[in-house]
Amino acid sequence: MTFLEDGAIALKALHEFAEASRRREGLVVRQPEISALAAKLDIERLISEGGLQGERLQHFLADYLAVSTQLHHPGYMAHQVAVPVMQSAIAALIDGSTNNAMAIYEMGPAGAAAEFTVLNWMLKKIGWRPAAVPADYARSSGGVLMHGGSLANLTALLAARARVAPDAWERGTPGDLVIVAPPACHYSLTRAAGIMGLGQNAIWHAPTDALGRIDAGRLAGVLREIGAKGLKPLAVVANACSTALGLYDPLRDIARACREHGVWLHVDGAHGASALLSPRLRHLLDGIDEASSVVWDAHKMLRASTLCAALLVREARDLDQTFREDASYLFHDKDEPGFDFVHRTVECTKAALGLKVLFALAYEGEGAIAATIERQTELAKAAAAYLRGRPGIEVAVEPETNIVCFRFRDGDDAHQLALRRRLMDEGSFYISTTEALGKRWLRLALMNPLTELSDIEALVARLSALRKE
Ligand SMILES: *Cc1c(COP(=O)(O)O)cnc(C)c1O
Repeated sequence: MTFLEDGAIALKALHEFAEASRRREGLVVRQPEISALAAKLDIERLISEGGLQGERLQHFLADYLAVSTQLHHPGYMAHQVAVPVMQSAIAALIDGSTNNAMAIYEMGPAGAAAEFTVLNWMLKKIGWRPAAVPADYARSSGGVLMHGGSLANLTALLAARARVAPDAWERGTPGDLVIVAPPACHYSLTRAAGIMGLGQNAIWHAPTDALGRIDAGRLAGVLREIGAKGLKPLAVVANACSTALGLYDPLRDIARACREHGVWLHVDGAHGASALLSPRLRHLLDGIDEASSVVWDAHKMLRASTLCAALLVREARDLDQTFREDASYLFHDKDEPGFDFVHRTVECTKAALGLKVLFALAYEGEGAIAATIERQTELAKAAAAYLRGRPGIEVAVEPETNIVCFRFRDGDDAHQLALRRRLMDEGSFYISTTEALGKRWLRLALMNPLTELSDIEALVARLSALRKE
């Protein structure tokens, strides 16, 4: 079989999978036992004998998709992973076929141009200065795309380290550095402290209000206290928005405290930076332009297929000083018409991630993506209002984004978990769960533009029925 014929088989199967999901057919989530599943898919035999083409491919895909989680199903309300614009998956196919590992310009000029331009589009959304070739450090911000917000958060803290402790690359991370972050920060930040050799104890909790948002008024006091102890803040980390509850920290006021103390402000906008596209919602990110670095995932609210995160820095120089290396086959003085990203990221061989963002945005245009973000936020607010109106249900906070947390008042934390377990076993809805404000919640991340309030009503009806069983 040719690539065209097998490609047609795959495209047809994927199209039908997504269409059936959109019609609410099948189960959103199924979890067969893994070794039985591997046997059913005949994976070992395929590896040893080959033949994954034509009819065999068709059967394989049927079995594979039959147990795949159906993100395109409106009952998918679980994790902050995009229900992708299908056309952005075409970008993954193009990248997979051309394999232009574009970390150095000569390996993939088109992919590099896509990344460079997408990054500049993001920089302008923040209110920063786009980059130019050749680099003009005095006047440009900068960025790089990589595999996920977790890696991007680590890289942001490494960039901050290069500024605060320029010797760290040679001498190791000094032990007097601390990271100031709210308790509700993403786990990748505490993990980064571990990876960097600072240890998780180097995380100082930022003062917060009753809902876990940074209390900017008390931040300066904490920064002074750190100084008085002979320690040095590596960075202040702010959520925009937090993973569990979807709340935004007050960036403008936080930035003021950071500026007064000369501290690097890192904004973790993995989920929430996309609100910058919406004139109605971008006030939530007011002050983001005063940050030193921002992480912004495209595979969440920008609807790009996984995996694609941007690390953006206000001063391009900061990112160019983050890593230092000696690999003469890659790094040498070049007179080239393009741009090498390789020195800005942990990754060496690098996928053309800009293409995925481009294809997600360029199918309908950025206005349509912005409209979807607004719609999902409205849906979350409507869901919260509906849930609050139900006797016996408590809603954690008024949503600022497309995340809603609720729980059944008469049950303890274990009850909420058991309820979710039973729902997952049925598979007709897929929701997540989280701890926040000292309690366990059932959590909806409303990623799917086809999810309606009636789907949420049906979910609650199902949960109520399960409670009676
Ligand atoms: C999702 C998320 C991350 C992690 O990003 P990945 O792309 O999943 O690695 C980090 N921070 C926040 C606030 C997030 O919502």
